[in-house]
Amino acid sequence: MGLNIQEIRNDFPVLAEEIYGKPLVYLDNAATTHKPVSVIEAEANVYRRFNSNVHRGVHHLSNICTQAFEEVRKKVASFINAASTEEIIFTKGTTESINLLSASFGETFFSEGDEVILTQMEHHSNIVPWQLLQKRKGISIQVVPVTDNGELDMDTFEKLFSPKTKLVSITHISNVLGTINPIEKIIAIAHAHDVPVVIDGAQAIHHLPVNVQQLDCDFYVFSGHKMYAPTGVGVLYGKRKWLEKMVPYQGGGEMIDKVSFSGTTFNELPYKFEAGTPNFAGVIALGRAIDYLKEKGLSDIWDYEHALFEYASEKISEVPNLRIIGKATGRTSVISFLLGSSHPFDVGTLLDKLGFALRTGHHCAQPLMDCYGIPGTVRASFAFYNTKSEIDQLVEALMRVEAMLG
Ligand code: PMP
Repeated sequence: MGLNIQEIRNDFPVLAEEIYGKPLVYLDNAATTHKPVSVIEAEANVYRRFNSNVHRGVHHLSNICTQAFEEVRKKVASFINAASTEEIIFTKGTTESINLLSASFGETFFSEGDEVILTQMEHHSNIVPWQLLQKRKGISIQVVPVTDNGELDMDTFEKLFSPKTKLVSITHISNVLGTINPIEKIIAIAHAHDVPVVIDGAQAIHHLPVNVQQLDCDFYVFSGHKMYAPTGVGVLYGKRKWLEKMVPYQGGGEMIDKVSFSGTTFNELPYKFEAGTPNFAGVIALGRAIDYLKEKGLSDIWDYEHALFEYASEKISEVPNLRIIGKATGRTSVISFLLGSSHPFDVGTLLDKLGFALRTGHHCAQPLMDCYGIPGTVRASFAFYNTKSEIDQLVEALMRVEAMLG
């Protein structure tokens, strides 16, 4: 059917902003996406009409708010095809979801000397929580190397398994290179070794359809703010068989069954992992963002964004002295590059003055930067509200910047 991009752009008020008197060209979507009016309104509406703590009151407003909150749990479960709503845990975002796993899965299933397999292209959020577990429990971290063109070295991956391997935790799509990892294959290999798999879906959930039962992943985590929803809300999907055995992450209200000083029992799933008042307004708006994505259609979004990515990859290569970092065959939505010997920060600053929002630096992936021997990159990342015309403008601006810094 195809997307009506102008109509979509009109849904996002911030896209009409000007920066230094120039129209904003926002190409920092891998860092965070903008929000359509319907999502902004959904969150504001909670505060306007039925703000009330969830699961706690018998009163009318609390019931309405609880119902709206729990409806989103159903919506998320259906969006990723989870087997049940009990497998959907609301968190602050990807980072908290992985910290929950390292703390709780780590506490329950890891002993000294056990191993977790990560990759060289992980975001710091999928490295540091495991390093904290390493300090606490004396586990060891095995790392899958990345090839020059930005793919995982699958031969080495297979060789990293040992009887001590307890978990594989891996990103679905690299936030720096745009590489789409072969997660089906990775999950199958890990399961052949009886090892569960965590997928960091922060860069994937809004770009392509995710079916957790078909993937057969054990955990899948993502953030609301990268999928057109508010900040401060995210999801941890986990197979019930693991979640049931895992110890609670944080203690507090809602996660308990009965509290006494002689011993406390815990609530059932998913509440066992949702201590304290959740970001219910954010969760309710996340539900609206899912509606928005479904209205537009993830497969049309994928087609459009992929076409945009291919157009951008070709056009951007016309800029003299521009080097794209990461050339995996399966890639999308992100292009990282360097311009001659210019520092990414200088390129980003000049682009900013011309109205372009791009990210520069190590993108919270320092081990990957080390692997390429570079301090950072400039990163253009696309959403379905971006256009070919914006890419043409970027290429023109890059030609100017190259001439200035060259
Ligand atoms: N993993 C990946 C692949 C990411 O791109 C990001 C965000 N840049 C994160 C994890 C962390 O997400 P958040 O900051 O929303 O918790």
